[in-house]
Order: sequence, then C-alpha cells, then structure tokens
Amino acid sequence: MKPDINDIYKLMRKSPTTKEKDLLQKAYDVAFDAHKEQKRASGEPYFNHVFATARNLAEYGLDTTTIAAGFLHDTIEDTPVTEDEIRNQFGDEIVFLVNGVTKLGTLKYQGQQRHVESLRKFFIATAEDYRVVIIKLADRLHNAQTLEFVKPEKQKRIALETIDIYAPLAYRLGMGRMVGQLQDAAFPFAYPEEAQMVEDLMKQKKNLNQKYLEKVWRTLKTEMANHDINDLTTHQRVKGRYSLWKKLQRKQMDIEQMYDIVALRVIVPGIDDCYRVLGIIHSKWRPLPGRIKDYIALPKVNGYQSIHTTIFTGDGGIAEIQIRTKEMHEFAEYGYAAHHVYKQRGSTITDKHSLSWLKELKELEGSGQDKDFLKELRTDLFEDRIFVFTPQGDVIDLPKDASVIDFAYAIHSQIGNEAESSVVNGKYSPLKRILHSGDIVEIKTNKKGTPSGKWLPYIKTSMARKHIEKYLKENSLWNKFFN
Ligand code: MN
Repeated sequence: MKPDINDIYKLMRKSPTTKEKDLLQKAYDVAFDAHKEQKRASGEPYFNHVFATARNLAEYGLDTTTIAAGFLHDTIEDTPVTEDEIRNQFGDEIVFLVNGVTKLGTLKYQGQQRHVESLRKFFIATAEDYRVVIIKLADRLHNAQTLEFVKPEKQKRIALETIDIYAPLAYRLGMGRMVGQLQDAAFPFAYPEEAQMVEDLMKQKKNLNQKYLEKVWRTLKTEMANHDINDLTTHQRVKGRYSLWKKLQRKQMDIEQMYDIVALRVIVPGIDDCYRVLGIIHSKWRPLPGRIKDYIALPKVNGYQSIHTTIFTGDGGIAEIQIRTKEMHEFAEYGYAAHHVYKQRGSTITDKHSLSWLKELKELEGSGQDKDFLKELRTDLFEDRIFVFTPQGDVIDLPKDASVIDFAYAIHSQIGNEAESSVVNGKYSPLKRILHSGDIVEIKTNKKGTPSGKWLPYIKTSMARKHIEKYLKENSLWNKFFN
C-alpha cells in the first residue's frame, strides 16, 4: 500500500497551504517513480524509506522545502533521475539540499578506525546549511530503526556511527528526542550484551520508580490546585536505554544511584510558573542537595532549558521532577529547526540556515593536520562544555578544562595574541589557569604582547591552537618548540 501523504501534512507545525501541498505531492510522485524498481533489504519498496525520512522531517518541524528534499534525498545518487531534472522541476535550493545529503553519504566511520578525511568533508559540506544535517539525521534515523534487516557485518559499523557521530550532532542541534531515538535504535547492534543487561535492569527498576512518582503526582496535583496552578500538563519521561547505560558507567554501575529512570515532567505556561511549581515541590518534599539544576537561567550550550530537581518522596523513594514551559518542551524535544520555524517564518535571510558552531568548523578547513583534526573535532563538538562570563556578563562557551588562553581567543584573536594576564573572579590569575563554569574572566592585554609556544599545553580549543601555531610559523618560532 502506498504511504499516505496526509500523514505528513498532519505532522507539520503549520498546516501546509495549497501551494505547499502541491510541492510536496510533486516530490512524493517524482520519488515514487524514481524508486519504483528498488527494494529495501527488508523487502519493502524503497520508497517507504524516503517517505519515512520526509515524515521524520515533518515531525521535527522542518519546512516544506526541506521535507520535499527529504523525499528526493536518494534520487540523484541511486536512481536514473539526474541533477538537472531535479533542478528543472524543483529549483536550485532543493538541488543544493539533495546534493548536500548525497555528499554526506561518503562518510564511513569504523568505530576505532577513523576515516578522518571523509569526516572532515562531512562537516565542511554540512556547515553550509543545517538543513542538510537534519535531512541526514532523518535518513539515518529510519536506517537505524531498520537495522535488523541489514547484513550482520554492516550492522555494527552503522550502529557505532549512529551513536558516535549522528547522535552527538542531533544533540548539538538540541534535538533531544532524536538523540534518544538514534541511540536506542543503534544500542542493541553496537553493544548487544550491554543492551540486554540494561533492558533487564530497566524492567526491574522501572515499576518501583513509577510507583513513587505516582504518589508524588497525586499530592502535587492537589497542592497545585490549592495554589491556583491549573493550566499544566504532565507526563512521565522514561530514560533512554543507551543514556541509562552511559550514566550507569559514570555511577560505577550502581543502579541504586539512578533516580531518573522515570522522571515526572511538569509543563506550565510561563517561566514564573516554573519557579512557583519548584517552590511548591520544595516546600512539600526535601530536595537532594546538589541535584537542583536551573537550566532556565543557565541553559545548556545546545539551548536546552528546564528546571530539574530530585526529591525524597518520604516513603523511601527518590524521584526526579523536570519543570519547563511548553516552548521549552518543544525545543528540548525537536530542537533548533522546530524552534526556528516558529520564530523566523517568512524571513528570507540565507544566514538563518547556518549555525555559528558549524561556521567555526568551516573556518577550521585547511588549518590543521589530519591526525589532529578528529581529536579537535571531538573536543569542540562532542565533549562537555563550560560557561564562562566576561565582566559584562556575556557568556562564552568553551570545552571542559579550557584555560584563560582559550577564553581570550574565544573573544577575539587579537585579545588572545596580546593577552598578558587575567583577573578571574576578582583575583589575578595566570593565563594557563583552567576555567570552570561560572567563572568571570577579564583579560589584561599588552599591545606588545605575543603568543607563546609555551601556551600550547594549556589550550583545549582548536581556535586558540590555530592562531598560536600561525603566529609561531610566521615568526619562524615553530622549530624552537617542535624540534
Ligand atoms: Mn536514504
């Protein structure tokens, strides 16, 4: 049976106009014809895969153009349809998106064995437009969810690639739901034994956790009504299997320390309501010290906002509650794209499709040696980030363990080059000082100052490295430090 295009219309954030429907229907028809003769490994018509991709894009709040490109993403590479035909029928923008996705198809990641060059191409190509990345994610999600049909020798590679490359990209785009979907689809194929273990643990613990939460929820509902907070929705968030496993590793595999296998989510209209709800919760139950996280005042680097708190339920249980507004919820689940469609609908500036961190990556092109590239990329993109403030209150996000030197270069290359000393939280500090989230940093510069090779062991960002190495090379100081 042919998939129903109405399923896609229904998922779109704003119902499509007649013109938009015409475009989507045309993309559907062209893709259907192009893939007519092809089958998936599962034996299904190949078209089901491109339909699923387009459907994922609609679910994640992408616009009509991107959904149409989703339908067409495998045509130029895998079918007799040519680039010119797509251009004639759909125009330059859709050709650009389809070509971008095709280029990304060259990426093959083998877990430990790293194909740095294709990885580099992958990022550089995608830096032009975040929609290309999201189409690739939507495509990968369906491929990961149908891994059972793939030949065993390919399963593990695709699964690892999904976890190590694609899920972190989705994370950076704020697509929390996508992260979980990708990881949980790939987990059993990447780490079969561990996945089975987590599955068993989950079965045991989930019910207990849920029992505590239900009691909390009954009390909370009454309390809220007493405080005239009526316009709220709640649901239970069950932790993803893969993310549970990662957390278990951090907690020395101690499942007793896992309080958020099932969490209670409270969604209220306004930001002030979030804090009122937090107040009600804390006056009713004792919170666990150190577990109150205010990501509303201090969002995560990918834009995530919510308040998290963990409470003693009073009957021996411990439970996590997450409080957020509707907008925050939409953003946390569907990320940058959905949010963007909301905010910028109708705007035509091309810059709206690129992200600053993707641009940064683009600048890295040609800057470093291959062997360092992946290491740098991982540090810049995938590892934990810290937030550091300028004296004016601007937030600079840096990788964990970054130093004052990294901070200086993050502000401006000239500030980095001329940095002489710093004041961190009101105290004079050396440039090599490691920074922590919340530090307030002021850089003292000296017009005659220059970068030093001695800084290199103390930096974490590729931006700082690029500028320091450039200076050393241009001033023939390179050999002094590296021979
Ligand atoms: Mn595909």
